[in-house]
Amino acid sequence: MPRIVDLIENKRDGGAHSRDELEAIVGGYVRGEVPDYQVAAWLMAVCWRGMQPDEVATLTQVMAASGEQLDLSSIGKPVADKHSTGGVGDKTSLVVMPLVAACGVPVGKMSGRGLGFTGGTIYKIESFPGIRVDLDAAAFVQQLREVGLVITGQSADLAPADGKLYALRDVTGTVPNLPLIASSIMSKKLAAGADVIVLDVKTGSGAFMHDRESALALARAMVDIGTAAGRRMAAVVSDMSQPLGCAIGNALEVAEALDTLENVGPPDFTEFAIELASLIVDLASKGQAGRREVEHAMRSGAGRQALRRMIDAQGGDTRAFDDRARLPTASLQRPVLAESDGYVSRLDALSVARASILLGAGRERKGDAIDLSVGVHLEAKIGDRLGRGQPLAVLHANDELRLAEAERVLRGGIALSATAVTTPTVILERLGAPTASRA
Ligand code: URA
Repeated sequence: MPRIVDLIENKRDGGAHSRDELEAIVGGYVRGEVPDYQVAAWLMAVCWRGMQPDEVATLTQVMAASGEQLDLSSIGKPVADKHSTGGVGDKTSLVVMPLVAACGVPVGKMSGRGLGFTGGTIYKIESFPGIRVDLDAAAFVQQLREVGLVITGQSADLAPADGKLYALRDVTGTVPNLPLIASSIMSKKLAAGADVIVLDVKTGSGAFMHDRESALALARAMVDIGTAAGRRMAAVVSDMSQPLGCAIGNALEVAEALDTLENVGPPDFTEFAIELASLIVDLASKGQAGRREVEHAMRSGAGRQALRRMIDAQGGDTRAFDDRARLPTASLQRPVLAESDGYVSRLDALSVARASILLGAGRERKGDAIDLSVGVHLEAKIGDRLGRGQPLAVLHANDELRLAEAERVLRGGIALSATAVTTPTVILERLGAPTASRA
């Protein structure tokens, strides 16, 4: 058994760890044999000295093996999973996963509740009253087999090393580090058992990775980790300098996801969801016909039907599919009007997220309640032309007092220009994708 202090010194001096050494640190920590202060020192050494790619892959496998690992072989087909690093208005899973399931590829996802200003998928689907998001492993696998689609909360039994390490990183200044982020995300993905994993790494003001290069490096590291563990991997780096789609806020995003599955969603979000779903279908089937199948699933309503079956299987009220008023709805709707003519040249995702959090859609402090009904609906996106007095956005609120501050924050993130502005591309990079040649 290596001495932990020797391992810390080795990392401090720029050395690399073997599998046994990583097991000693991570396994020892999970078992309570290695104290917080030694692991904290080791994490800081990793932040300063980094890790070799094969070391990160091994660390991830050790973390994945620290708890239960789902065996999905009984499903009889490759199972797909999708992960986003988090953004603003990111309701992608609610559209992509049903479309993929409708193409015959089973999709299972354990999802977090969102970190910081990013909203998690779990809050969004809680807009369907009664839905269960605490499925255990057996129920997860059973629904995957019977319905072909499942989204539930992250099980604490999977990759418990990540839960413990993340909590320590959070209070020791060791969160923003590529090997630690990549191993944290991928350990949960590997333990959840999917054969096909597609990652959406966001970049821009509304993402954790502010610049494209670090987002690409994170995407590459995670694709390499998954590939080393024998999974079929692909990733995209996507723009999060403006929100995705028009709806920001839990129930508003669910309504937009339903609209999208009914072919009336915003163009940027619709195209992004189709691209991502096609990528997953191609990867799962080792084919190239994904886009045709996904477009058919969208047009025919099969994707919408798949989501409805999933919500129903998890005990949620599906009446919102036919009557949006069944979703949590805010009592106040306040338009924010353009003060001059012009083309939208800036629609800062972080400002929109902050406005939405001020209205109550997210947490400002640990333990704050979330209001599922409130948020921001954008009436224009970058590149759109507006006349003075036309709506830029509509704020959905339940508290008159919060509206003025939310409007001020939102306006601070918006700029109009007298000259035309090009609509930004959503997908900036593709990695490991069979469809990589597509424009
Ligand atoms: N998300 C995770 O799951 N882990 C990290 O370290 C960062 C983001």
